Amino acid sequence: MKFKSLFVITLAAAGLWACKEDLPRQMFDVVATSETTPGPHKGDIIDDPAVWVNKKDRSKSVIVGTDKSKEGFGGLRLYDLQGEEINFLQVGAMNNVDVRYNFPLAGEKVDLVVASNRDENTLAVFKVVEEGRNLVDVTGRKVNPVGGIYGLCLYRHKGDGHVYAFLTTKSGLVQQWRLTGNKEGAVDARLVRSFEVGSKTEGVVADDEKGNLYVAEENVGLWRYSAAPDAGESRVQVDQVGKRLADDVEGLTLYYGPKGTGFLIASSQGNSTFSVYERQGDNKYIKSFRIIDGPSIKGARKTDGITVVSHSLGALYPAGLFVAHSDGFGTGVGSNFKLVSWDLIEPHLKQQKK
Ligand code: CA
Ligand code: CA
Ligand code: CA
Ligand code: CA
Repeated sequence: MKFKSLFVITLAAAGLWACKEDLPRQMFDVVATSETTPGPHKGDIIDDPAVWVNKKDRSKSVIVGTDKSKEGFGGLRLYDLQGEEINFLQVGAMNNVDVRYNFPLAGEKVDLVVASNRDENTLAVFKVVEEGRNLVDVTGRKVNPVGGIYGLCLYRHKGDGHVYAFLTTKSGLVQQWRLTGNKEGAVDARLVRSFEVGSKTEGVVADDEKGNLYVAEENVGLWRYSAAPDAGESRVQVDQVGKRLADDVEGLTLYYGPKGTGFLIASSQGNSTFSVYERQGDNKYIKSFRIIDGPSIKGARKTDGITVVSHSLGALYPAGLFVAHSDGFGTGVGSNFKLVSWDLIEPHLKQQKK
């Protein structure tokens, strides 16, 4: 009896606390393991990450981050797993970025880094060289998507083996482009499908194993579509903007677990939390979390892009790595990425599932 009432009181207190802070009810907190060198320009210029996994030595994998500074100051920033910036490619206002491996290009298999360039409204395609410490532009025919390029993710379709780029716009248009290598070693893109989501859309992520495409309609919610190039416009709402998912719904990422399990994670920018759903089935909601201030590293605030790596990256990240953008805490400078060891996150999700 005593136990039971204590439990009820604790639950009530937790509920009150959540109400006060206007946070989701199923919450846990983590602190960052490391963080990246802050962006050097004024404003919230860092946006979206991707991780290139170095298969020869995973502890030497590289984080690729976008710098969306306008007027030629933007580009792609490369960081090591300690968060140190190791290279900057000043190639235009890059907004979102993604990675796929083993892309056939002029008789070689290369790893591609693809980003959305908002200065030129183009798809920017790079291949990874020098063990991830540099990128070479392999953009072929320049494509200018209708409506102004904004979000981006990559997808490899099991059915035909092709790699596709999904591009999103501020008007809510999604365009699916097939990427193909030409004989000159450049990558061309051809539009194969487009559909309207409804309103402003940036975050997208595709599940290569299950063939799902997840789309964040920023002020409305989270949708699941088919990622197949010949799929129609039918969709299922995974979640809607409300108390736990506070607009904007921003970055999306997928943790690939064994046997088709894992997690779909969404950045809930309006309350600086991350919503976690099951990767399988109907994407049931599990829990939300925050990255709060640690002894030496501040938490993540107003997160745009996120990404997660689903396997060990060495001693620092034995179960994987979660990367989240953070703004500069209202200072106008210093936006960066917070790096969180996955072994700080996953135990909370397992508890919930019991
Ligand atoms: Ca990304
Ligand atoms: Ca946005
Ligand atoms: Ca936003
Ligand atoms: Ca963004």
